[in-house]
Amino acid sequence: PNEAMVIGAGLAGSEAAWQLAQRGWVVHLYEMRPDVMTPAHVTGQFAELVCSNSLGSIQGTAPAALLKDEMRLFDSLILQAGQAAQVPAGSALAVDREVFSQRVTERLQGHPRIVIHHEVVTDIPSQPCLIATGPLTHEALSGAIQETLGDSMLSFFDAAAPIVLTDTVDMEHAFWGSREGSEDYLNCPLTKAEYEVFYDALIHAEQHLGHDFESSTFFEGCLPIEELARRGPKTPLYGPMKPIGLENPFEGGRRPYAIVQLRQDNAVGSLMSLVGFQTNLRWGEQKRVFGLIPALANAEFVRYGVMHRNTYLKSPALLRPTLNTKRREDLWFAGQMTGVEGYVESAAMGIVAAVGMSAYLEGREMPVFPRETMMGALAYYITHTDPAHFQPMNANFGLFELPPEVQGLRDKKARRQWLRNRAMARMEEFVRQLEPVHE
Ligand code: FAD
Repeated sequence: PNEAMVIGAGLAGSEAAWQLAQRGWVVHLYEMRPDVMTPAHVTGQFAELVCSNSLGSIQGTAPAALLKDEMRLFDSLILQAGQAAQVPAGSALAVDREVFSQRVTERLQGHPRIVIHHEVVTDIPSQPCLIATGPLTHEALSGAIQETLGDSMLSFFDAAAPIVLTDTVDMEHAFWGSREGSEDYLNCPLTKAEYEVFYDALIHAEQHLGHDFESSTFFEGCLPIEELARRGPKTPLYGPMKPIGLENPFEGGRRPYAIVQLRQDNAVGSLMSLVGFQTNLRWGEQKRVFGLIPALANAEFVRYGVMHRNTYLKSPALLRPTLNTKRREDLWFAGQMTGVEGYVESAAMGIVAAVGMSAYLEGREMPVFPRETMMGALAYYITHTDPAHFQPMNANFGLFELPPEVQGLRDKKARRQWLRNRAMARMEEFVRQLEPVHE
């Protein structure tokens, strides 16, 4: 019939429900709160912001600004609420979190085509449905997902390392090579004096205040770098910072005192992750402390290291770029559980999934978002990257393949402006081609 089902009224599920209802579907929206809470949510409101109250940059050529501008073309509910709840925060869109969630809740509750069910969903429904239950998905449902989609499909991790834009690494202080002789890593050497300053900053840096559930024990394999460092000044030198097998060309081939290795993180090589540098430091501290590594003094962090319980799918193995599963065409996922990171990224994936679901329900082919758009690039990344090293991803310009005309532009701002213009033009065209939205 004319019905659609959405599970989870967080950032992604609220946006998806709105998008589907605006397209004429009667949406059954399931949310377990307030009866059953997650370890991070504290209210029964929809689209609750569990941590920071920032929806990211709105400044000109920032990647988060582009993502939001694209979403506005879809009349995004999350951004409408963001606008209504905006508080002064310079170039960021920060919101009064209560006003924000209240607004989203009221718009959904008041929608003539949205039916709200406050209950825990414990199984994957057999009718067409969109699941957006977030990084803290109720365990009964995550168990069911695991069972249905296969054991290797749902992965957990404790901490993630930061990711930087490759072309912001200072190549006067970095060299390619590996301990095994290949050229696969970008190595950032430190002298003894530089290491001592870095070490001291690292062990004294401010940590992100964890929610209760985060104080659990760490996996030894992904111990935060600051925890490892606290075990002793030499410990990192025998771990991720060990210089063995590497020769520093800037010092006549001598072995460096310490090293930080960067590993390519996406197919086009525009992103690099700091190997073994998973961390629980506050984001500002990450920039300050890791900026003490000479090659990273001016590096742009496209994703900071994060530490929290996080359930997400091995999307590259599981999902199509339209965010429905390869196994079951009428089952969509959206939000953080698809492997994007951030409030707005989550909501954006709610739009992608809802647009696909709406087309499917109408019996049309599901439109694939263009890769030249930020939404399309994110959906492409999470469904095409190497499943073995898949970590959640923010909106950033490293997701785009650079055409020759952009590679020629030396100025970073000019390059971004070019990519931004192209993205907006493509998205406007894409939106025009979609079926008209019912009001
Ligand atoms: P959520 O917003 O979590 O929504 C999922 C919804 O599904 C929830 O309302 C939940 O109650 C409901 N639900 C779960 N299971 C069921 C079920 N079985 N049946 C019915 N309902 C169910 N991102 C940022 O941009 N900035 C931050 O500062 C930030 N801090 C974070 C801090 C923590 C502790 C965590 C865990 C994540 C943080 N994130 C942050 C990441 C991410 O952006 C948010 O988690 C975001 O809320 C994800 O959106 P979502 O819609 O995927 O999930």
